[in-house]
Amino acid sequence: MAKRTKKPSLKTYRAKRDFAATPEPAGKKTPPAKEPVFVVQKHLASHLHYDFRLEIGGVLVSWAIPKGPSMDPGVKRLAMRTEDHPLEYASFEGVIPEGQYGAGTVMIWDAGTFTNIKKDKSGRPVAIEEALAQGRLTFELSGRKLRGAFALNRTNFAGRESWILLKMKDPHAATADILQQDRSVRTGRTLDEITAGK
Ligand code: MN
Repeated sequence: MAKRTKKPSLKTYRAKRDFAATPEPAGKKTPPAKEPVFVVQKHLASHLHYDFRLEIGGVLVSWAIPKGPSMDPGVKRLAMRTEDHPLEYASFEGVIPEGQYGAGTVMIWDAGTFTNIKKDKSGRPVAIEEALAQGRLTFELSGRKLRGAFALNRTNFAGRESWILLKMKDPHAATADILQQDRSVRTGRTLDEITAGK
């Protein structure tokens, strides 16, 4: 019986090399995780906002949320669609220098994985790419701060896309202000500490 062809993987290539010592590339494409990731980056630029990013189709589809996410199903938060970011951006925390796009401080405010739970009217699962195209996303977040079901719904197409982020009712819903938890889930730092490079 013929052996099956191995699946493409950079594992062996990478295991043989020390990328601190060789100029060869480690390879930018990371194999897709079992579960897609999400990240929320608190970004103190010209205006403070929270960048909410979901891994869809190999990129981080992104929204800027001026008032930040809420765990309260009674609170709607405006989310402006911004440009897709590379997957590697999910681990970025630091200072964007003056004169560069988005100059200011970026904190990994929350991070984790998510599950697409969107269903059509007959109860059949809808692929997330399709749900995105329809402007009707529902998903469950497993982060350190944000947990449970959320909806992101597109409200208009004019110029930039406007969406609304809303917590759905479930046992994770809460009225306490989640934004009070204001340290990085990656490094435990505050925005000021990241700005100071501590
Ligand atoms: Mn931003």
